[in-house]
Amino acid sequence: MSIFIKNIQLNGLVTHIRIEGNRFSKIGTDATPSTSDTIIDGTDKAILPPFYNTHTHSPMSLLRGYADDLPLFTWLNDYIWPFEAKLTPDDICIGTRLSILEMIKSGTVFFNDMYWKEEATIRAAKEMGIRAAIGIFAIDSLGLKDIDQKSSGANKQLSDAPLIQMTISPHAIYSTNKTEFQRCAEVAKEHNWVLHTHVSETKKEVDDCLKEHGCTPIELLEKYGVLDCPKVILAHAVHITENDMEIISKHGSVISHNPISNMKLSSGYFPIQAALDKGCKITLGTDGCSSNNNQDMREEMKFASIRAKEKYGAESIPVSTIFEMATKNGAEAFDLDAGEIKEGKLADALLIDLNNERMVPCHHLLSNWVYAANSECIDTVICNGRILMQNRHVDGEEEIIQSVKKRYK
Ligand SMILES: [Zn+2]
Repeated sequence: MSIFIKNIQLNGLVTHIRIEGNRFSKIGTDATPSTSDTIIDGTDKAILPPFYNTHTHSPMSLLRGYADDLPLFTWLNDYIWPFEAKLTPDDICIGTRLSILEMIKSGTVFFNDMYWKEEATIRAAKEMGIRAAIGIFAIDSLGLKDIDQKSSGANKQLSDAPLIQMTISPHAIYSTNKTEFQRCAEVAKEHNWVLHTHVSETKKEVDDCLKEHGCTPIELLEKYGVLDCPKVILAHAVHITENDMEIISKHGSVISHNPISNMKLSSGYFPIQAALDKGCKITLGTDGCSSNNNQDMREEMKFASIRAKEKYGAESIPVSTIFEMATKNGAEAFDLDAGEIKEGKLADALLIDLNNERMVPCHHLLSNWVYAANSECIDTVICNGRILMQNRHVDGEEEIIQSVKKRYK
């Protein structure tokens, strides 16, 4: 498939862009279409890289609004986990499809997922043509045998789904024991997989860890050898000390900052500026739908930015920094040659409607995008050289909505 986008705004200039296969092949006013190209008129539109969501639990869209206004541990133990125990693989697939629909419509082309019954999430991601990193879930209730069975003989890249990579996802230090965590680290090292876990999400988690192990959760992960894995994604990392930040930075681990979930569950304040100053790599994630309650990465950018300003001052975390966290940094964390609109890069892109009332006037595109826009400003979503949404329509969206409503009943 090849696509030719004519008269599109890129970095403030009007140009043409050609996509051949899954990469941007030519960008410039001298680019020309071939007869087989799908032509998109980019007049009054701008092209931007899409979002890479580095922490979610996609099937949890089924629990949207089910248990709100509760602290993390009550929310998990009394509501979420009992509900989830009833979900079948088909439910999980349906919930994931709903999340993916929402992600596409809000400009996300990649999600890093942690959930059980992973095969159902894989099924949905394959069907819908989106990039994903899907973790083999490890938690005490599933046990070591489950990790070994699922990881044995598995490859990083699925042979029948080139957009999906496997990861290993121990839930957290309070729910996945030392032996299991260390087995997960061995699997990550053996297969060159990303290891993805929750860490230091609440003050209670840190206090319990200090009491039980005499160190912080980040120090514990270092002792376990987990941070020596090729790539570690640390979701939340809200209650981290300066020493924790130095450890994270030293190992090149990546923080997935989830500002809306952290605020909604009252988990605490992630010291974003201090972590940046210590050289930590930061990306953005939405977390699952029941602690957010949506999968909209543009909202994460705005919340991350304005919440930082509340603490560190108006000049902190400029739009370019927060935009990179949501785009390029997320792609890099998963070794995706994407997240920028450049010749040779993987062809992932959003076309933004510059006639939308929230984009007018356009003194500064990224300012409008981070502070003013909403999903309605996205006209087209392209992932891996394929159009997933055009004129705000995603193929099969009506069927997805109906299947969720029916299942819910
Ligand atoms: Zn989470």
